[in-house]
Amino acid sequence: MNKGVLIIGAGGVGRVVAHKCAKNLDTFEHVTLASRTKSKCDMIAKEILDMQGIKIDTYSVDADSVEELIKLLETVKPRVVINVALPYQDLTIMDACVACKIDYLDTANYEHPDEAKFEYKLQWERDGKFKDAGITALLGSGFDPGVTGVFCAYAQQNIFDEIHYIDIMDCNAGDHGYKFATNFNPEINLREVSANGRYWENGQWIETKPLEIRVDWDYPEVGVKPSYLLYHEELESLSKNIKGLKRIRFFMTFGDSYIQHMNCLQNVGMLGIKPVMHNGVEIVPIEFLKTLLPDPASLGPRTKGVTNIGCVMEGIKDGKKKTIYIYNICDHQEAYKEVCAQCVSYTTGVPAVIGAKLLYNKTWDRDGVYNIEEFEAKPFMDELMTQGLPWKIIEL
Ligand code: NDP
Repeated sequence: MNKGVLIIGAGGVGRVVAHKCAKNLDTFEHVTLASRTKSKCDMIAKEILDMQGIKIDTYSVDADSVEELIKLLETVKPRVVINVALPYQDLTIMDACVACKIDYLDTANYEHPDEAKFEYKLQWERDGKFKDAGITALLGSGFDPGVTGVFCAYAQQNIFDEIHYIDIMDCNAGDHGYKFATNFNPEINLREVSANGRYWENGQWIETKPLEIRVDWDYPEVGVKPSYLLYHEELESLSKNIKGLKRIRFFMTFGDSYIQHMNCLQNVGMLGIKPVMHNGVEIVPIEFLKTLLPDPASLGPRTKGVTNIGCVMEGIKDGKKKTIYIYNICDHQEAYKEVCAQCVSYTTGVPAVIGAKLLYNKTWDRDGVYNIEEFEAKPFMDELMTQGLPWKIIEL
């Protein structure tokens, strides 16, 4: 039987996942980290050896190639693959997992490099292949998507008779001291924020202009923050999986400086994803911008403050209206002390490890492709309490 966990992607999130898998060695038995640039894997491996005294294996892999991935899977023979490379690699990694019959997990839905389109279609279409292979694909096991879906599932399974309205609230009240930087991969982040907004109401999708809808919401333990409606991928699966739902929206906080910079970059074409010619060389503007911006991994030591991410849910319990907020507070400096990364990577990496743990020990065991809210939420909620992302529920 295969043994151990294989992490693909040695960026900000991959680093947290590797640290946390090593901390959960009693479950995972063995940890391997592979990515395009092996030196990044080796740097993380050294960090883990120095901080925890645990040795992990490292490999280089081009995760755009199914063949290379299959070779790696045949060498490492893991029981679960955690995909924390980029959303562009989801399909190739899923296909390699099917070929080798190994459980798969990711934290972001597939995106095509040339098209900013966020949808699960191509991943859901692989359901039959995963069923035939007798393995599980757990989609969206980060924070959002991820823990937000678990919060919704937990509320549906334990708190409400029916949930009617959900607002997912994502607040990063941390300060890194730069005028402009993105907390995770700039290309993925800026594509998401500069796209049209969209939310689901009464069975229909309603489109808004980028950042058109703003609410000033009073986040518990943080205070009032301007929050903007964005489309976010978990809306697609939650609108299908939460029964009786009438509306679901997603809001994220942005400071004025971030918005001014982003608007300016957009107006001059720097967020473009199509190649342009520059001095006889083809460049993709957003990729060039990524080169100029601070590496998200470098924000860790400088970021202070907390994140507050959660779900406001309104519904019915025993015939009475009920509104709650389920949320987590994560402290940037505490996260950095533990795993050398700030909260945005921490809040994504820890849930990926929890999802992998539940697959590894077969607490979650269903053949096919599933979003996280389709599983029983309680075991995941229990793990959040002990793995560094404790949650609270308040009545509003
Ligand atoms: P980074 O850009 O920091 O890291 C991505 C890593 O993937 C890099 O190490 C990169 O390698 C590697 N990689 C890219 N292409 C390939 C390839 N073809 N083959 C092998 N490795 C490759 O991103 P993050 O760590 O910030 O994000 C990781 C994932 O987490 C993304 O999919 C992101 O969308 C998702 N995410 C999810 C969130 C959630 O809450 N659900 C929140 C934040 C992020 P190299 O170092 O050589 O470039």
